[in-house]
Amino acid sequence: MKSFIKCDLCNAEISEEKCVFAVHRRTPGGEERCFCCERHADEFERKHENESEKTER
Ligand SMILES: [Zn+2]
Repeated sequence: MKSFIKCDLCNAEISEEKCVFAVHRRTPGGEERCFCCERHADEFERKHENESEKTER
């Protein structure tokens, strides 16, 4: 079985065997997420921060 990881922001398929994309892992809020690129990891983190700010209000 092949394991594909999907980018949590754009849903791009990332293969761990063929390193077309380097898998970027972030843990916003303690939950591990995988992304196709650093930019998407940063963007997701930013969105996550904004969402948690909203819920605090
Ligand atoms: Zn992406």
